[in-house]
Amino acid sequence: MGFLSDALERVAPSATVGITQKARTLAQAGQDVIALSAGEPDFDTPLHVRDAAKVAMDEGKTRYTNVDGIPELKEAVARKFKRDNGLDVTAADCFISSGGKQIIFNALMATLNPGDEVVVPVPYWVSYPEIVRLCGAEPVFAVADATSGFKLTPAALEAAISPKTKWLILNTPSNPTGAAYTAEELRGLADVLMRHPHVHILTDDIYEVLVYDGGTFATIAQVEPALQPRTVTMNGVSKSHAMTGWRIGYCTGPRQLLAAMMKLQSQSTTNPSSISQWAAVAALDGPQEFLAEWRDVFQGRRDLVVAGLNAANGVECLTPQGAFYVFPSCKGLLGKTSAGGKLIATDEDFVMGLLEETGVALVHGTAFGLPGHFRLSYAAANAELEEAVRRIQAFCAGVK
Ligand code: PLP
Repeated sequence: MGFLSDALERVAPSATVGITQKARTLAQAGQDVIALSAGEPDFDTPLHVRDAAKVAMDEGKTRYTNVDGIPELKEAVARKFKRDNGLDVTAADCFISSGGKQIIFNALMATLNPGDEVVVPVPYWVSYPEIVRLCGAEPVFAVADATSGFKLTPAALEAAISPKTKWLILNTPSNPTGAAYTAEELRGLADVLMRHPHVHILTDDIYEVLVYDGGTFATIAQVEPALQPRTVTMNGVSKSHAMTGWRIGYCTGPRQLLAAMMKLQSQSTTNPSSISQWAAVAALDGPQEFLAEWRDVFQGRRDLVVAGLNAANGVECLTPQGAFYVFPSCKGLLGKTSAGGKLIATDEDFVMGLLEETGVALVHGTAFGLPGHFRLSYAAANAELEEAVRRIQAFCAGVK
């Protein structure tokens, strides 16, 4: 009998760890590395949010809280869902965790049994299939590739649903592609879901505030309120308010599920950090105007990298509508050899060759379930992005 659990044996190690470690090793060895492999805003947490945390500490709000969050934050979350998403919810319909990831983990862990299926559009955020597997259930991959703008189509959804399907996971705007569904596109998916009442929906809206070109964010329970009783709408302050380290995520969902998540969380992390919860109240109730300024900065960076990548030999990049990622194709380079003599047989060879020869760290598409692509995170300063694009172009020009 092995020491490690069967559940853990089912889970793959993070595919991004290899590239991150290699980038670190190269940087330690003195190479000039530009890491565009991580997914966090480069802005500071806003001052009014940090101040709220300091006040919380000084006022002794440093003890255990309710498992599902302080009432003040649940109220603020309910206000947010009403204000921004038109969802008719109260604090009793809301739940706080240590990051959006713990919401997902709780919801899946509280509901999945061996044999259950979860529909995951491909490419996907790396954690979805692994959490599903950890629960002993099966991810069922539905194609959402470049031919549909990296979006799940109603036909692909219909084909992926079986009597065993317990959940559909949606993520808009998307990591890794930046694709953001319009209300009309969600309407098409909602029509399919209305025909399959046994399917629950977990929508990961963590990049909500980053929708570009004047587009409007939409979430499925808003588009089809009849789905709300079987939808978990997940969000958080990590990406919106540059608070990745504070670890606050939240959701609204069916009360029976929230009660189950509470039972689970009470036996794992108990409550999210009390101080971070007070900071999140300030983030959600405080001024939101700066979010539009940040969004404009990200949109400018998106335009910079999309133009630069499309000018690179063998690379094709769609213009995403949101988040801070692009997911271009590198198929035009496969089977060829880099200037440094590396055979580029796969997308992983491409990102490894690029890192070794230029110091630019990206993540290969296979890590997100879609070979022949790579992900670049443009949550970095413009000067860094310009230099990275220049190096990528030079590398691709040298591929013969
Ligand atoms: N969902 C998506 C799509 C993400 O990209 C991330 C972070 O990378 C998360 C969830 C996790 O958010 P949090 O840091 O709040 O746990």
